[in-house]
Amino acid sequence: MKYETGLQVDMHQHKTIIPGKNENDGDPMQMAGKVEELREIISRSKRIVFFGGAGVSTASGIPDFRSETGLFAQEENGLSPEMILSKSFFYLQPEKFFDFWRKHMLHPEAGPNAVHRYLYELEKQDRLRGIVTQNIDGLHRQAGNIRVYELHGNVNDNYCMECNAAYPAEAILQSEGIPRCECGGVIRPNVVLYGEPLEKYVCIGARREIANADTLIVAGTSLTVEPAASFTEDFAGKNLIVINRMPTKADERATLLIHGDVTEVFSELSRE
Ligand SMILES: [Zn+2]
Repeated sequence: MKYETGLQVDMHQHKTIIPGKNENDGDPMQMAGKVEELREIISRSKRIVFFGGAGVSTASGIPDFRSETGLFAQEENGLSPEMILSKSFFYLQPEKFFDFWRKHMLHPEAGPNAVHRYLYELEKQDRLRGIVTQNIDGLHRQAGNIRVYELHGNVNDNYCMECNAAYPAEAILQSEGIPRCECGGVIRPNVVLYGEPLEKYVCIGARREIANADTLIVAGTSLTVEPAASFTEDFAGKNLIVINRMPTKADERATLLIHGDVTEVFSELSRE
C-alpha cells in the first residue's frame, strides 16, 4: 500500500505512517529496543548536546520546506524556497520575499511538541548542555530552554535595517508588502538567508558545546545544509546518536542509529 500525501494512522500498530518512511523502522520491537537503549544512554550522560533540524518541528505543524520544494515551486512560478529565501532575492524582490515569508515561514499557532518538552526537562536536570538547531521557529525557546544555539536565527527576532529597533513576528505578519519601521526603514527577520554568513558567536558557542559533549543526539536532519552540518564532526565524545527517517551523513559514525520519526522516539522516551 502506498501513501501519497498526508499522515495516516495504521490502526493495527497504533502508529502514524509517514509517507516515504524508511523501511528499517517497520519493526516495532526493534524500535522499542532502540528507544530503551537511548533512554539508558541519556541516563548515564552528563553533557548531552542535541543537534536538530526540520524533522523536530514537523509534528508542531511546521512543514519542512526543503522536502516540499516541488509544492512551493508550483506555487511560486518555478522559484525554489532556497532562491526566495536568499540574500539576493531579498534585496531585489523584497515584496515577493515578504509575501512568501508571511505565507510559509510564520506559524504563530505552532507550539512545542514532545521533542521540545523532553529537552526542556533534560535542561532542568542539568544534563543537557545545549541545543544546536537549524530551525528558525523559536520553539525550543518557547518550550523554556535557555541554552539554545539558533544557527539560522529566529523568526521572532526582527529589526529595522535603519535604526535597529526590535520587532516581533506579528509586525511582519500584520503588515502588507514591505514591512516598515516608524522611521521608514525596512523591518527584516534576524535570520540567516541563503548566501549570508552564520553569526560568528552562535557558531563558536555551538561548536564548543558539541566538542565538549559526552553524548550528541543528531535528530530530524539529513545534514545537507552547510556549514551547520559539518559542526557535528567536532564531536569527540562517547555516544553519537542519529535519529532520522532518511539516511544521513553521520549514519556511519553513529553508535546508535534510529531510522524513525524523532517525535515518535521522544514521545516513547517521555513515557516512564
Ligand atoms: Zn527604524
